[in-house]
This record gives sequence, C-alpha cells and structure tokens, in this order.
Amino acid sequence: MKSGMKNDTIAALASGSGVGAVAVVRMSGACAELILGRVFEPFPHLLSLESHRLYYGILKDEAGQTVDEVMCVLMRAPRSYTREDVVEIFCHGGAATVALVLDTLYKNGARPAEPGEFTKRAFLNGRIDLAQAEAVMELINAKTDLARRAVLRKLSGGLSRKVAGARDRILGWLAHIELSIDYPEHEEEAMNLAMVLEEGAGLVQELEALRATARHGQRIKYGVPTVIVGRPNVGKSSLMNAILQEDRAIVTDIPGTTRDTLTEAVTVKGVPILLTDTAGIREGADQVEQIGVSRSVEQAQIAELVLHVIDGSSPLTDEDMKVEDLLEGQRKIVVLNKCDLPVKVELENAVKISAKTGEGLEELYRMVEGLFLEGDISADGDIITQARHVYLLDEILGHLQKAFEDIASAVPEDIISINLKSAYVLLGEMIGEAVGDDVLDRIFLEFCVGK
Ligand code: GDP
Repeated sequence: MKSGMKNDTIAALASGSGVGAVAVVRMSGACAELILGRVFEPFPHLLSLESHRLYYGILKDEAGQTVDEVMCVLMRAPRSYTREDVVEIFCHGGAATVALVLDTLYKNGARPAEPGEFTKRAFLNGRIDLAQAEAVMELINAKTDLARRAVLRKLSGGLSRKVAGARDRILGWLAHIELSIDYPEHEEEAMNLAMVLEEGAGLVQELEALRATARHGQRIKYGVPTVIVGRPNVGKSSLMNAILQEDRAIVTDIPGTTRDTLTEAVTVKGVPILLTDTAGIREGADQVEQIGVSRSVEQAQIAELVLHVIDGSSPLTDEDMKVEDLLEGQRKIVVLNKCDLPVKVELENAVKISAKTGEGLEELYRMVEGLFLEGDISADGDIITQARHVYLLDEILGHLQKAFEDIASAVPEDIISINLKSAYVLLGEMIGEAVGDDVLDRIFLEFCVGK
C-alpha cells in the first residue's frame, strides 16, 4: 500500500446519472462485504456469498423496509478493479431509487466516494500505474473511435512500458557512473562515458519522437482545428451546416465554447475535426466587421486546416485573391461553392461543391481524409494525449541534454549524475512513481464520481 491510501469503504453511482432501466452502485473497501451482508437479502437465503457471482435479492433499510429489488455481485480482493473487496449493486434506474440505495449504504458504514476515487485506489494498490489511470479517464471521455483506440493502447500499458524502459537505461548509466566515482581504479570496468553519450543520443531521439506525438494527441482528443474562410456570401455558413448536418449524431459540445461561437466538433471520414466558421474576410469593411475579419485571419493562422470557400458562380474577385495571399503557407483546401449554378471560375486543385445540394461534399471529405488519416493522424503507436506528460517530457529532455553536454565538456561525474537522476525521477512521475499527493488529487479530481 502506498502513502495517501485510505482504506475506509466508499460507495457511489457508477453508471450514468440520467434515467435508465438499471443503475449500478459500486462500493469498495475492507467493509464492503460486511455492509452488503447488513442490507442485502439474497434469495434463497445464504450465509455467505461466493466471489464473482451474481445474486438476486432484496435490499433493505435499517427498519427492514424494502429499498429495491436488486442483483448484487461481490468481488473479493485482490480480483477486483480496486484490488479491494468490491460490491456492485444493480438496482432500478432513476434518481430516487439510486439516492435511497446509496443512503442505505452510507447509513451502514460506507462514505460517498470522491471523484475518481475507485481508480485512485486501483493505482495506489498497484493494479494500474498513473498513465493507465489517466487513460481510464480519457477512455470515459473519448468521443471518437480514433481517440478510443489511442487511449486503449495506453490503458494496456504501451506508454508505461516505453517510460519504464527509458528509466531502466538511465538507471544503468547512473550505476556505472557511481561505480567509476567510487572505484576510480576500476575505470576499465565502468561504462565508458562515450558509450553513455552514444546510447543517450538514441534515448533522446526516442523521447523527442514521443514528445512530437503530442500534436496528434491533441488532434485525436479535440479534433483538427479547421476554419472556414472566404469573403462574405460565398456560402461559408452553408458549408458549415452541410458538414454538420451529415454528422448530426456525433456533433458534440466543446468545453469553453458555445454554439454561437460557431465552433463544432465533427468527424469527417474518421478524422476528428474542430470546425469554426469565421466572419467573412473583406477589404475596407467597417470597424465592427474589421474586428471579425482580423479574428478570422488569426483563426486561420492557428488552424491546421483552412477551407477557403470561393463562389464558383461569379467571377473571381480581388478579395478572393487577397484571402489566398493571407493564407500563404497554410495547409488548405480551396472549395469552389455554388456549383449547382453555372460555373464561372476554373481553379486547379479546387474541389467543386454545392453546399446547397450536397454535390461534391464526398470529394471534399476524401481530401480531408487524405490529408490527415493516412499521413498524420493514426491511433497506432504510443501517443501523448496529456498536457502533464508533455510538460514532464520537456523537463526530462532538458535534463538529459544538460547531462550529455556535461559529459561532452568533461564535467565531474557527480555533477553529470545530478541531471540524469532528475530525468529518472521525472520519468517516474509520468507513471506515478513518487508523485506527491497534491498531484494525485489534481489528477483524480478530474474524474467523474463512481469511476
Ligand atoms: P457566408 O456569408 O459565406 O456564410 O454565406 P452563406 O452561407 O450565408 O450563403 C450566402 C448565400 O449563398 C445564401 O443566400 C445561400 O443560400 C447561398 N448559397 C450558399 N451555398 C450555396 C450553393 O451551393 N448554391 C447556391 N445556389 N446558393 C448557395
């Protein structure tokens, strides 16, 4: 048991809080079985329950009144999610029943679980490491198939193994350096520092590659930031609506934004997209419009993909060309809209669509897919999806680079090992070795109650 461990018995609703046929109430801790024995009467009557077996029966309050007709399972430690005794009660859905079931458990010795406390216990009891615990939370929140796949890999320990491997290597170097400090006469036995430099370059490369996946991680988690730009009335809003319409089922709310900011998450051929409609870009606009215009230029500049909409039913204007100039160097698709009308513009590499009839949208989606799915976005391989890991990797790389610079400039070995030790400790933090309670609390509070 690690520090910070509490072993009182906790209980909370584990299933979603809306109306449902069945709700799952979960309880974990040393007294879980005892509490269950006080409130649950299996049918037929039994003196003790077998582990991992589902029982039907009645849940009763302290006055002997029936609370609900339920199914219960007891999972004795250590074969449970938390490695403690865990009880799951399947009761009728609905807020009133769930509240009464929980109240009955609390009156008999359990206490309300904090957010993420079940997963925190799984971590503190050594069933999963911290990177896996974070993956549990990400899996619950995953909105796209890509996000789900990337996280599942982390949950099975992919990232953790990579981090543990890196730690082992650093530990090996440290051991050799310590040896040569303690026994300078056995220099030939100590690892040659040149070897550390060589192996170190390989490790830095690996960790830098891992750090570089953070961009994909962001894309997978939140979507590729994509903006629709173009002069007024070319059909930007119509295009936005057409794209969203096709995908109504998976349109989701983005934290921190509201519908009127016109940013929506949508999945186009498996590519998660964060789509923003911008004010029309127009020269000589009045002041209010100017603000909108400069915002849309800014948005376009931070976006990873720009859809530049041009009205194909009227000749190209200087404004269209100015927008093109503003987008110089940007990853973009030129969308020639209103192609249901007689086409007056011929542009190479532009995709012809009609936001009105839906013609050409499939082609546009295939282009988006081609840009991201085959190239950049893939859920295979280890992907960094947590800001905490990005921060730690930056720190780790900084320490390693410093250590290798020190080796190159023949700094005393005990000083070299200071930076290597820091890198070792910080790698440990990625998977939850020696992290402070404050860090743990922050991580687990982001969970929902019951997980
Ligand atoms: P925005 O100002 O760029 O957002 O343009 P809107 O989406 O508001 O569209 C401007 C006008 O063009 C509206 O009257 C739309 O109905 C019309 N429009 C948009 N897309 C098409 C299209 O594909 N075909 C036709 N014929 N009209 C369109």
